[in-house]
Amino acid sequence: MLTPSTSTIAPLHQRAAAIEAALQAQGIDASAGIAQGVHNAEEVWLPERGARVVAKAWVDDAYRQRLLRNGKAAVAELGIEMPPHHRHLVVLENTASLHNVICCTLCSCTAFTVTGLPPDWYKDLAYRARIVRESRTVLREMGLDLPHDMELRVWDTTADTRYMVLPLRPAHTQDWSQEQLAAIVTKDAMIGVARL
Ligand code: FE
Repeated sequence: MLTPSTSTIAPLHQRAAAIEAALQAQGIDASAGIAQGVHNAEEVWLPERGARVVAKAWVDDAYRQRLLRNGKAAVAELGIEMPPHHRHLVVLENTASLHNVICCTLCSCTAFTVTGLPPDWYKDLAYRARIVRESRTVLREMGLDLPHDMELRVWDTTADTRYMVLPLRPAHTQDWSQEQLAAIVTKDAMIGVARL
């Protein structure tokens, strides 16, 4: 099988422009779809949405239980939609002795309407291969040095089952408002490569 070297692959923006030109040559105007995608990526699918979910779960135990039972229905309560092909949202609760981290070994799947689009490193072959085989080493390289006695679970996303990590609420935040709590929740923490 022929594999082009990276030096023969045009930069992303050139490839995207070529696809748009090819569609236009077929009489298909992709500009509206592209504009909608850019709008969603930059203004709608933001990790602040997932942060609101996490903060509510921290302060509202009944909500937390609904979230763990059926993530998709629970985020919908907060007005957060998921595409039809994201059939399930499984929420993985971190504890003092358990840590969860997610990946997509096939490509780049995340619950992106909830936690934001995947970071570039999430799509890298190195992360996708190594987080499964040498999880603790990869997390340490990313700045998260887990204690040896902490259980670690790695979850491989599929097209129809998406995951998000429910981080452990930091002990010093007991008096904080839901808004203050949401402000400390990061995309990395909802992927599981950081703890708060
Ligand atoms: Fe994927």
